[in-house]
Amino acid sequence: MRSLSIFGATGSVGEQTVDLLRRAGGAEVFRVVALTGGRNIVRLAEMARELRAEVAVSADPSGLAELRERLAGSGVAAAAGPEAIAETADRPADWVMSAIVGAAGLVPGFRALRHGAVLALANKESLVTAGPLLMAEAARHGARILPVDSEHSAIFQALVGEDIGSVERIILTASGGALRDWPLENLAKATVKDALAHPNWAMGQRITIDSASMFNKALEVIETREFFGVSPHQIEVIIHPESLIHSMVGYRDGAIMAHLGAPDMRHSIGYALNWPERSHLPVARLDLAQIATLTFRAPDLARYPALRLARDVMDRRGLAGAAFNAAKEVALDRFLAGQIGFMQMASVVEAVLEATDADLGRENAPMTLEDVLAMDHLARVRAGEAARGRAGAD
Ligand code: NAD
Ligand code: MG
Repeated sequence: MRSLSIFGATGSVGEQTVDLLRRAGGAEVFRVVALTGGRNIVRLAEMARELRAEVAVSADPSGLAELRERLAGSGVAAAAGPEAIAETADRPADWVMSAIVGAAGLVPGFRALRHGAVLALANKESLVTAGPLLMAEAARHGARILPVDSEHSAIFQALVGEDIGSVERIILTASGGALRDWPLENLAKATVKDALAHPNWAMGQRITIDSASMFNKALEVIETREFFGVSPHQIEVIIHPESLIHSMVGYRDGAIMAHLGAPDMRHSIGYALNWPERSHLPVARLDLAQIATLTFRAPDLARYPALRLARDVMDRRGLAGAAFNAAKEVALDRFLAGQIGFMQMASVVEAVLEATDADLGRENAPMTLEDVLAMDHLARVRAGEAARGRAGAD
């Protein structure tokens, strides 16, 4: 029986993973080692019972008593706290879904690689903050990382049977997010509610706001560089409002391979779950005659400063990704709390990159997980300061 664990099981990607497992036969077919979640104890306990997990772990230590109570008599063990989540990653499993949001996903994914598992990686922050470390750890232990981000799954699929050396360019598609058609001068006044109205994808709250600011695409550009090992100048971003082409690979003979499908994360989750085979997936089939047209436009960097910052991060490498991601997480928290404006998220991140410049290290300098976590911490402190300096300002 195939064994598996899901980190971030109660989130958007986690729930869709559970949905696919259920459809494939659930506990009758898979041995579920661990499920982790956050404050949603009710849902975590419910899915752990249904999938007969060995252990359910909440990130929130104050939820332990309730989790124990809800799992009483089920045979599912309960645990809580960040350390418990990290330890859970030491439990061997054949397939591990990394779907915690943010830098909190790094350590569990890293530790899961040590037992040579297949790591289905939705947590793009892992590659952005510690790409070289993560890839080296996978190689050391014979583990396999499979991308779950829809763009990277599309690229991965467009590369099957091809030589990465014949790739000329990788074209990431972006919906442009909820504020795509707003006049530029109105963006500074955009509210959380405005930024959450994503045109195509139903996702977690944080990534939805990051889509509107294109911080999500900025993370994905860096993720592409780290995962596929291509040069930054080979990576392009194009706005494709329909979100039907999930990304493309351009080869040196001029051919472009595109991956199309409905905007449904179960495409890429299912591909990672069934890889290297393909199984039936419960996703909508495209009616191309009805769709009729696919449109594209170049992104405007004044509207999406995050894309410009991603270029700087790729040029710097070293710990720049860790600083960038941590500063972005804090800026997003402050925007969600109504303390800074929509466009100020990018200016906070830019200020942190400038302030940490001397601490980022040389390109390709060896780094450790501790270096990454220390930079994550430093950048959060500096981002907090930068955000306070901007609160209330226009
Ligand atoms: P989400 O917010 O819906 O769920 C996050 C999960 O992580 C939940 O289970 C939550 O309880 C848990 N979690 C939150 N903070 C935690 C912490 N500090 N420690 C441990 N667990 C914690 O997020 P999501 O939208 O499912 O995204 C998950 C990851 O997948 C992110 O890295 C995101 O960028 C990536 N991703 C998501 C989508 C999507 O469609 N939602 C698409 C592509 C990539
Ligand atoms: Mg994506």
